[in-house]
Amino acid sequence: MLHYGVLVSIAKNSYDEPPFTHYLGGAVVGYLSADFLSGFIHMIIDNLDPEKVPLWLKTICNDFHAHHKKPLGAVYDSFWYQNREMYLVGDAFLGVSVALGLMGYDLSALTFAVTGALTSVTNWTHACAHGRLKGNKIITLLQRCGLLLDKESHHIHHTKLDRNFCGLNGSMNFVVNRIFWTSRTVVRWWKKDSSKEINNG
Ligand SMILES: [Zn+2]
Ligand SMILES: [Zn+2]
Repeated sequence: MLHYGVLVSIAKNSYDEPPFTHYLGGAVVGYLSADFLSGFIHMIIDNLDPEKVPLWLKTICNDFHAHHKKPLGAVYDSFWYQNREMYLVGDAFLGVSVALGLMGYDLSALTFAVTGALTSVTNWTHACAHGRLKGNKIITLLQRCGLLLDKESHHIHHTKLDRNFCGLNGSMNFVVNRIFWTSRTVVRWWKKDSSKEINNG
């Protein structure tokens, strides 16, 4: 009877509680999502016209655009100031994580929590690629392992502004780049088509 109880308990727990590898997978998905989000947001803001957006967004646009002209400014901003634009995004994900946790969806809660927490600091990891904490062995090691954005891959963004927008480690650049290039092709085609219609009309 005791054995039966133990077996039921193991079966129940293995059903209720996902194995450790699932949590590891959730954390990796959260990590990749944070990299994607940082790149996607960067891509949009880089391509907005500060003169055509609401005032609250205008400052953010100007900050992003100014960074292309003076990249080293990112190295000297304070940690809290530096990440200010990403806190709201991070907080939204952390809020969803808390709600999912309360509903018992622990794995999803973990994924959202990792996404939110890491998205909040992607401006800082980006600054590290510009030389913030230069010489710090842990940061250097993480950059060499590809776990944090490295100088070389981010430098490509500063030479060609149409690629490599991601700020955590750049692993999702291939996705964000594809989204950007495809959108740009569609917009150019649309504008060309519209101007033809105006000329013909
Ligand atoms: Zn940029
Ligand atoms: Zn940069």
